[in-house]
Amino acid sequence: MATNNLTYHEVAQIKQTRRREAAQQVGASLAGDNLASLHKIGVNLFGVAIREAQDNENDYNTVAIGHVYNKDSQSILLVACKGIKAKPVGTIVAEAKEYFPTLTEGHTMILQNELSVSGGGSDHLHAEMAIVQALYYKLQVSKSQIPSCGAQIACILKGVCPDCSGWLTRHNIPHTWRREHVASSGWTNPLTGAFFKYSGGDLQYNKLFWNGFQVASKIDTMSAKKTIHPNSAKYA
Ligand SMILES: [Zn+2]
Repeated sequence: MATNNLTYHEVAQIKQTRRREAAQQVGASLAGDNLASLHKIGVNLFGVAIREAQDNENDYNTVAIGHVYNKDSQSILLVACKGIKAKPVGTIVAEAKEYFPTLTEGHTMILQNELSVSGGGSDHLHAEMAIVQALYYKLQVSKSQIPSCGAQIACILKGVCPDCSGWLTRHNIPHTWRREHVASSGWTNPLTGAFFKYSGGDLQYNKLFWNGFQVASKIDTMSAKKTIHPNSAKYA
């Protein structure tokens, strides 16, 4: 993309448009049937709480469940709850073991109301993206390894928003069905912490840099985009 003459803000708009254009369901047929299993586990564990939130039109409340295999082909389960209380890890494993027999409590990660690791004020890390962030920063799967570890993400009883779906599609991560409307509260990139939100026809864009290097809210030059990326860890 020719970015030389664009402001940081214009680049953000291009990024958002391209992300949303990429959005599609990357379905289970592409990579086995773990998505259906993940969704069933999610409904059994959280269906009542999610339906209750939906009855109250609380669009914010979301549960997403992700699954990857480690190098020994053992299951790792990531359960991200936003606004909905997670279950004890033993309850989750008991439910999920039927579908993922190698799963243990030690390989189950609960992400309760997880925020972007960049911190900052406008922080709307969607549940699907909390899973991606945990893969990258907690399990230390590199960006290029994320698809090859068999990552799949199910959003429970709710469509994946166009921003998350676009990001997941671009990174070849199968996920459950995509919905049409974007989140009114905004969207945070799970790896860079960049925050996008439309408000009154204007795109608000904050790029929060990592590890306390800088918190930038009003940057208008692409040179500010240069930052040190901390991902030197290896997928172990
Ligand atoms: Zn989303």
